[in-house]
Amino acid sequence: MLSHKQTPSFADSQECDTYAWFSQRAWVEIDLGALSYNVKQLLKLLSPSTQLMAVVKADAYGHGAVTVAKTVLEAGASWLGVATVPEGIQLREGGIKAPILILGAINSPEQIHAIAHWKLQPTLCSPKQALVFSNTLETINCGSPVPVHIKLDTGMSRLGTNWQEASEFVQLVSSLPHLAIASIYSHLATADSADPTVMEEQHRRFEEAIAKIKAKGITPPCLHLANSAATLADSALHYDIVRVGLAVYGLYPATHLQNTIKLRPVLQLKARVTQVKTIGAGTGVSYGHQFIAPREMRLAVVGIGYADGVPRQLSHKMEVLIRDRRVPQIGTITMDQLMLDVSSIPDIQEGEIVTLLGEQGEEHISAEDWANQLGTISWEILCGFKHRLPRVAVM
Ligand SMILES: *Cc1c(COP(=O)(O)O)cnc(C)c1O
Repeated sequence: MLSHKQTPSFADSQECDTYAWFSQRAWVEIDLGALSYNVKQLLKLLSPSTQLMAVVKADAYGHGAVTVAKTVLEAGASWLGVATVPEGIQLREGGIKAPILILGAINSPEQIHAIAHWKLQPTLCSPKQALVFSNTLETINCGSPVPVHIKLDTGMSRLGTNWQEASEFVQLVSSLPHLAIASIYSHLATADSADPTVMEEQHRRFEEAIAKIKAKGITPPCLHLANSAATLADSALHYDIVRVGLAVYGLYPATHLQNTIKLRPVLQLKARVTQVKTIGAGTGVSYGHQFIAPREMRLAVVGIGYADGVPRQLSHKMEVLIRDRRVPQIGTITMDQLMLDVSSIPDIQEGEIVTLLGEQGEEHISAEDWANQLGTISWEILCGFKHRLPRVAVM
């Protein structure tokens, strides 16, 4: 049972540990085949003139940014989206040449210098920020103008200039030296909702802003609005680029979007049994003895805990897969370890692989299952896996 169905192949990137994966107590497995598949599925949904931006912020939603970036670009994505300047630099240092949009706001001259140096593309959210950019770029000799992406707030109330002031903002930016408008975009607040009312209003505001910009004689070279949910929900929202995060990783942003295209989850969370023992009836398990064995039980200790990103709040609530079967987790989840009731499979051996997220045989546990149990969203589950867990790429 120490064997494994898939043969791991190591991507030569920093986030995939190249030391023996089979000696690990716990790891995150990244299925690069599923990642490519998802990109190709998404591309089939788009018209040939629409490009796919893979959003790889937060270390590619915990999957490992450089490996993910290389794979999605090879599969047909043409843009990458990150949240911060260091995330963009990490991709450039990893050898990525594709255009990289920084979705977050940047104000400091140091970061503007870094953007020019690393050929990253910033988001401009306000007239004030545009002036800081232009003035800062004046002081450095960066040759050609820096491509900038104008962010409009059409109802998310996060970054961007209010859609009603869009044309003045765009006019200002187009008049400033050292800046070249590469796109105009906005972000949707409720695209994953089954009720499209708010999304349609945001779409209408975006259209209204673009019409006013065009009326001033400025033709936006490129427009984008859709995240994963909007990409799956409505092709009228695709414009020139779609910015897809969650769906690239094989998860659906909402239940009602599951019948759109087939996606395959990319990430699996695995760990090994480190000790097996029998405990008598009445024996307390783990900190606080929150679990007392109701009868004699076979217990397996697994080498993964909340410091790896298994939420402690799932204590006593989660199940895991071992030998293609579901078994319950018992006792409080500890920092580095957790316990299972394996009384139904008493001959479990040390070293056997436990799947916490992913599939074994006919059984499957998804990040969405955890999210539902915890009252959160699958995005947060994916981003929660700590770097103590090596990311192991499999094909
Ligand atoms: C994170 C993000 C996305 C991707 O969102 P998903 O729902 O994961 O597809 C798209 N656009 C912006 C501005 C974002 O911040």
